[in-house]
Amino acid sequence: MTAEGSLPRKTIGIFGGGQLARLMIPVAARYGALCHVFDADPHAPAFDLTPHQHRASFDDTAAIDRFAHACDVITCEFENIPITALQRAAQITPVIPDPNHFAMAQDRLHEKTMAQKAGLSVPLFASVTHKDEVKGFFNQHGPAILKRRCGGYDGKGQKRILTSADLQDESLSFLLEGPCLIEALVPFTHEISTIAARGVSETALLPIGDNHHHQGILRKTSVPSSLPDVVLDLARQQTFAVMNHLNYQGILTIEWFVTAQGSLLFNECAPRVHNSGHWSLEGSSLSQFDMAIRVLLGMPLPDPVFVSPRVEMLNLLGDAIQQRDVYERCPRAALYDYGKPIFRSGRKMGHVTFF
Ligand code: ATP
Ligand code: MG
Repeated sequence: MTAEGSLPRKTIGIFGGGQLARLMIPVAARYGALCHVFDADPHAPAFDLTPHQHRASFDDTAAIDRFAHACDVITCEFENIPITALQRAAQITPVIPDPNHFAMAQDRLHEKTMAQKAGLSVPLFASVTHKDEVKGFFNQHGPAILKRRCGGYDGKGQKRILTSADLQDESLSFLLEGPCLIEALVPFTHEISTIAARGVSETALLPIGDNHHHQGILRKTSVPSSLPDVVLDLARQQTFAVMNHLNYQGILTIEWFVTAQGSLLFNECAPRVHNSGHWSLEGSSLSQFDMAIRVLLGMPLPDPVFVSPRVEMLNLLGDAIQQRDVYERCPRAALYDYGKPIFRSGRKMGHVTFF
């Protein structure tokens, strides 16, 4: 027996320093891995948790090269990182999920076309560039949502067209300055998301919860979902269908609409951990962050199971963070403050999980 030896330590690079990176770092540390974070914003929430900071813009190729050389594997916490940055880093160090999957998720048209090819149903949609096409779609199909194809998040870059008066709204012209998609408004009863991770040989799926949005922003996730097993099983099967179709590696979130008849419609996907999976830090044997990190480190990926019968995650948006002391008093509440220096309406400042 040798008394001494060196242990290799893996280094994970994260493009994007938002709250998702901030939540990922302590989990990586539990497995003995180091995290480097790349973000242009000096106040990026994840910088608080690592000394390995790459503060540079996503078009700074020298900085990307230094970052990639410092890491064993790279991932992203935000799907809108410029593809050129991911591709450049991928020439030096493996990027998981694959940059092509980020490219797909960055464009709502590619994303929906991919879902259709994988055999999924999607809301009725059309690619549009002109107001007349928006009007034609509304006249034919009724209430709809106009969405920028690229760059949107938290309901930004969208306009609901509920009446013909909305067609006159000046935000329409603004949105149409870039390529857009128009979708029929789905009369869903539930919104759910599936969060799955696939390594070299294993796939794991997080238990499913119900998501509650208001004005395009996730407010609350309640687990387990109130939907019947037949619908949840279908969501699981279809998530695997997407992963198979894409030959996917890494963590993947898919957002779904469920109608009163139990039909499942693909809304969008994200090649990363997701706000609707934060509950899993307290409520699941493996959190979504464990799942993502385990794939990056090549670790086994057992299926996560509930450790609490009922969990609820509440987002603290804007000035709601100022009431954090209310939650500090709850014994079965886990409070997360993302440490953002400025709050503004609708901004995700923290969350609390009741378990
Ligand atoms: P996020 O980043 O928060 O996931 P996003 O800005 O990428 O969101 P979407 O997921 O497309 O945008 O839309 C945000 C929310 O708006 C959805 O979760 C849903 O509540 C509502 N919504 C979007 N598209 C439709 C639709 N076709 N029919 C009905 N509601 C919709
Ligand atoms: Mg969404």
